[in-house]
Amino acid sequence: MVREQISSRDIIDPKVISAMSKIPREQFVTGKYKHLAYSDQPLPIGKNQTISQPYVVAFMTQALQLKRDSRVLEIGTGSGYQTAVLASIAKEVYTIEVIKSLVDNARDSLKQLGIKNVRFKHSNGRAGWQEFAPFDRIIVTAASEDIPRCLQDQLADGGLMIIPVGRQHWSQDLVLVTKKKNRLSKEKLLPVRFVPLVKKH
Ligand code: SAH
Repeated sequence: MVREQISSRDIIDPKVISAMSKIPREQFVTGKYKHLAYSDQPLPIGKNQTISQPYVVAFMTQALQLKRDSRVLEIGTGSGYQTAVLASIAKEVYTIEVIKSLVDNARDSLKQLGIKNVRFKHSNGRAGWQEFAPFDRIIVTAASEDIPRCLQDQLADGGLMIIPVGRQHWSQDLVLVTKKKNRLSKEKLLPVRFVPLVKKH
């Protein structure tokens, strides 16, 4: 998977390549889709949600420019695969998911892999996680029409956020948000298609 889908494209960050070589994606894919765990596509994980395509996980992780001491907020835990990749590079990961059964499954998967630097929260991620803010990095893995205000506020100065912006079934773009001296700048990186970031809990 890593050789054919990640290194052969534009992913060059050795931290990302090593993390994705190490984390078994099959751990995060259930039942009848397990044999497709290393294929070049998103897959259903139940509750109408999906685990992202491996390349998109790699692309978003690389765009975040993680450091070993980074504290990361993730919105949309889903299967927990992206969470595991982040946790194997960064210092701490705080991850929020709105569907309770997905939180429980992801927590189990990470426990089985012995990953301990992750805190889980079952709630609406649009509010962020004030208690542990500010965060050096924020990653949102569901599409939003806006960049939620709380997430803007909880991004540290000098921090980076990656978020798919746009409407569902319309064009969405991965946007890299940089915060410097309390000003945000935005750069579109890649057209994508994500499930929606729900507004109501
Ligand atoms: N990175 C995940 C992607 C999961 S899909 C993976 O690769 O497995 C996006 C996830 O975002 C879904 O699990 C969905 O339930 C969750 N989600 C959608 N809106 C949300 C919100 N407002 N707050 C928290 N999680 C949300």
